[in-house]
Amino acid sequence: MTKKILILPGDGIGQEVTASAVEVLDFIVEKFNLQFSINSMEVGGTAYDEFGSPIPSNVLNAAKEADAVLFGAVGGPKWDDLGWDDRPENALLTLRKELNLFANLRPAFLFDELSGASPLKENVIKGLDILIVRELTGGIYFGEPRGVVEDQKPNYAFNTMIYNEDEIRRIAKIAFESAQKRNGRLCSVEKANVLEVSKFWRSIVTEMSSDYPDVELSHQLADNTAMQLVLDPNQFDVIVASNLFGDILSDIAATLTGSIGMLPSASLDSAFKGMYEPCHGSAPDIAGKDIANPIAMISSLSMALRYSLNEEDISDKIDLAIKKFVEQGYRTIDIATEDNYLKTSAVSKKIIEIIDNE
Ligand code: NAD
Repeated sequence: MTKKILILPGDGIGQEVTASAVEVLDFIVEKFNLQFSINSMEVGGTAYDEFGSPIPSNVLNAAKEADAVLFGAVGGPKWDDLGWDDRPENALLTLRKELNLFANLRPAFLFDELSGASPLKENVIKGLDILIVRELTGGIYFGEPRGVVEDQKPNYAFNTMIYNEDEIRRIAKIAFESAQKRNGRLCSVEKANVLEVSKFWRSIVTEMSSDYPDVELSHQLADNTAMQLVLDPNQFDVIVASNLFGDILSDIAATLTGSIGMLPSASLDSAFKGMYEPCHGSAPDIAGKDIANPIAMISSLSMALRYSLNEEDISDKIDLAIKKFVEQGYRTIDIATEDNYLKTSAVSKKIIEIIDNE
């Protein structure tokens, strides 16, 4: 059956890195004779300028129908003063919510050749390969009641951290299954020492572990995990965490790699349809210069092929090509130590050449 891919380049370097990924996509479609229907639409500030909304309804509908959405990045100073409904970032949150993308997968890995880019010492960071599975549509970011009370003395504000067992089970299932496909270790992170919701989270994950005897489950308190990620990141294989803790921990893990332009992400629904995007933003400071690193976006395409498009072999080929690209000494501006970095448009051509020769 023909799989539907929706391309949403967005703003700033989102446009440039997505164009690179689409070159790779077009190449593999032809080389491997893939049955994809590919559609491209505007989103974010670019869509606001043209259609008066950062996420026009036809874009949202197309995203709902797609098997995989490739999302570049949105935002920029031009739109910073708009109200929330019109802001480019609203497109991202609307898509996550409307598509019910509850599972956010953020790999953090470091090629040996790039160990020097990490803020950690080489002997600590070498071999880094972690997958953070973050719950994305529940927890304290969406919990009710929430609010600000301004007619009391003292005034106060409050949020609710809440998870029901179904929400915990579905994210834990993705985490256990991911660990099965990787190195068989899962660390569940919460604050069971102080929060009821965390105690509940721990009990559900523990109960589920009997269904996954091949996965070694451990539990860690979130503050300790933040510390352990810096002290000894290689102890981790897969980490699963709630929305709040996963948000913080995935940013720490990304920082360990020292290269924001290399890291992809996937956000999945229960049918493994998903949205795939680089971890970086629209980088207005370098937009339009053809110097952004498109590898995070190309790697996001690879994740889409793996999780939503049933093309694991081709995903492997893209991952291998990225590895060889780095091994062969090619660099982009964010990971270069000298001035001999490749332009955005040259990276995809190189990756295509490597895949073609594999
Ligand atoms: P950013 O990720 O856009 O940029 C941070 C720094 O990293 C910049 O110096 C940038 O030049 C560099 N950088 C980022 N991606 C790079 C790449 N692929 N290659 C080389 N260098 C790269 O974060 P920011 O500056 O905080 O945000 C800029 C805009 O992006 C804001 O409007 C913000 O709201 C938006 N944003 C969007 C998303 C998203 O769409 N998912 C995520 C984060 C930020």
